[in-house]
Amino acid sequence: MDTDVARSMLSSVFGYDQFRGQQQLIVETLVQGGNALVLMPTGGGKSLCYQLPALLMSGTTIVVSPLIALMKDQVDTLRALDIRAEYLNSSLSIEAQREVERDLKGGQLSLLYVAPERLLSADFLAMLAQVPIALFAIDEAHCVSQWGHDFRPEYQKLGLLAERFAHVPRVALTATADDRTRSDIIEVLKLHDAPVFLSSFDRPNIHYQIVEKDNGRKQLLEFIRQQPEGSAGIVYCLSRKRVEDTAEFLQAQGLAAHAYHAGLTQQQRADAQEAFLLQEGQIVCATVAFGMGIDKPNVRFVAHLDLPKSLEGYYQETGRAGRDGLPSRVWMAYGLSDLINVRRMLNQSDAPAEIKRIEAGKLDALMAYCETAQCRRQVLLAYFGEQLDQPCGNCDICDQPPRTWDATVAAQKVLSAAIRSGNRFGSAHLIDIVLGNTTEKISQLKHDQLPTFGVGKDLSIAAWRNVMRQLVALGYLVPDDDRFGGLVVTAQARLILTGQQRLELRELAEKPKTSGKKLRNSATLTDLPLDAQQRFLALRQLRTRLAQQQSVPPYVIFSDATLREMALADPIDPIGLRAISGVGDQKLARYGEAFLAALDTVRHQTSQPSDQATSAEPHPILDPIKVKKTDTLKATLNLFEQGLSRDEIAEARGLSVDTIASHLFKLCQKGRLDQQQICDLSAAQIDEIQRTAMRLGHNFSTTASTALKEALGNRYRYSDINMALWLGSLEQT
Ligand code: ADP
Ligand code: ZN
Repeated sequence: MDTDVARSMLSSVFGYDQFRGQQQLIVETLVQGGNALVLMPTGGGKSLCYQLPALLMSGTTIVVSPLIALMKDQVDTLRALDIRAEYLNSSLSIEAQREVERDLKGGQLSLLYVAPERLLSADFLAMLAQVPIALFAIDEAHCVSQWGHDFRPEYQKLGLLAERFAHVPRVALTATADDRTRSDIIEVLKLHDAPVFLSSFDRPNIHYQIVEKDNGRKQLLEFIRQQPEGSAGIVYCLSRKRVEDTAEFLQAQGLAAHAYHAGLTQQQRADAQEAFLLQEGQIVCATVAFGMGIDKPNVRFVAHLDLPKSLEGYYQETGRAGRDGLPSRVWMAYGLSDLINVRRMLNQSDAPAEIKRIEAGKLDALMAYCETAQCRRQVLLAYFGEQLDQPCGNCDICDQPPRTWDATVAAQKVLSAAIRSGNRFGSAHLIDIVLGNTTEKISQLKHDQLPTFGVGKDLSIAAWRNVMRQLVALGYLVPDDDRFGGLVVTAQARLILTGQQRLELRELAEKPKTSGKKLRNSATLTDLPLDAQQRFLALRQLRTRLAQQQSVPPYVIFSDATLREMALADPIDPIGLRAISGVGDQKLARYGEAFLAALDTVRHQTSQPSDQATSAEPHPILDPIKVKKTDTLKATLNLFEQGLSRDEIAEARGLSVDTIASHLFKLCQKGRLDQQQICDLSAAQIDEIQRTAMRLGHNFSTTASTALKEALGNRYRYSDINMALWLGSLEQT
């Protein structure tokens, strides 16, 4: 493969100046006709591994994807890069499907996304046999594995590709790394001789935190309030009821929260998902039914209000945060009752003993993670077989290492209270015994006569609860099988009771110091210098507007990471803008003008807050590199003369309405169009806008500010306000 060609495409099409991790090796392997298995964490950049080869190789790349939502997202993103990509699934009308098939047969498509069912249908396979295929990319390849949570039976039949299309390279990609899944993928997809590209599964931009639950919801709210304004997040809960309650609670606090679980109607779920994808700052409270197929890169936090099922589940769910590589936070609150619940659920399940044993092992690993006094990332990665030599410096334990204490004697006291009272009582009663509380129950049962009664007065009730939770988490106490909440001392506890083993426990955590931390770790906004923050907000606003006009998620236009870099670099011309990671040729041509104009507006607002309209220059818009100004004006004029409205022209040209408005205005200046022709506003409206602008000292020669828009009661669109301003500046000259 010509590495230079690949590199230059990486830059011109995707706007990136470097490959990330093993991307280059993977791309080379595929372009040279080899197969590959790619194991990369979420956000690692898997898509590029087959999208770039798709452009470099002749023929169509067929991408197997399990979910319709995923396909649409990916295709939108590719189209924004001017790549010919389509998907085939039941969401398309029959005619639309025929059209895609025609394009496929005509060799027009670089990439085609299909679900496995479709791919494996006899008709479709017959069609594929007649067209040149560059590559098969099997995304979310862990769906082949019966052991995983995302098992899809049809994925198991994909091995057929190896026989039917022996000469076409195949790449399987997944973010699930365990050995069992890996060998299933190799076996089922017949990738025995394919190189395995394994990346580290560390997600360094994610900050991990676990707090002891006292009032879960209130703690959740505090956590959310610590996040930068406008942060999108997911809150996982165990039951549908809790999902709904939590969403309602957050709504009542003024947050944009939505409920999502399998019991809601299709429409309700689609609405929640759409709001989450298309708008900023939305929070989804969900059961684990939500997540897969959510490709949103700027999820800034993931919170668990209940324990996940296992560390695998935890890693996957938390992994939905920060796909864009920007700082993100994951948080969990858990307490003794959660522990008892999950243990009991496991005891009561009627799964085969072998499965129960595996599940119990998984639960133990999860508990150990929750209770660790060691860096969380080290524990998490170790579970997946990866070693991190140094503590990470980006988790709650590293922020504030917990102190441990010798809890052997305390444990002996409460364990012996449990045994002497017959292994039948719950945590609250056992604590009453050691604290020497003469409750009615204690008197009735004569537990005040036990030798352990009142032997634990040296510790507070909170400290005892903390001890109890850890004893349950570490497996010294287990809930009994009936439903009365009794705790049973296990055989494992014997060594402690006999003093043969010491027990170190974590001290009760102090309230974490949150101030200061926020600045250091929170994402996208607060860690930018003030002036850059202002630019970021303006750019984000523009992105939202463009996204709404085009009905695509904002990140299809630019990622948060790209906006951040733009805000920091504050480029003044297309060359500067093109140098930003994530800005390729196509995006520059489409959006360059609008984003440069937005930066320019901020520059004017900050440098000359109240100057008068002195310059004869109308609106400072810079020439894009590719399209000459005259050409772009001509294109707009052409469409305008065909009778298209401002919005329609914007849509047709893939430019913002503001940009089109500015074109029309320039055409007006040049005498090609008449004022009355280009302005839909009434004379009274123009007058109102101009007067308000003057009152605010707003310069007629710059674009509308938020302040002006607000002063007008948000009744006008930016492009209308600009139009009125420009007409005003025209009269002034
Ligand atoms: P995955 O599918 O592995 O979760 P994606 O393919 O969605 O990850 O990529 C995650 C993010 O990283 C995206 O925003 C993508 O544009 C970005 N990205 C991918 N490759 C590169 C690269 N070489 N340089 C910069 N950003 C990249
Ligand atoms: Zn750490």
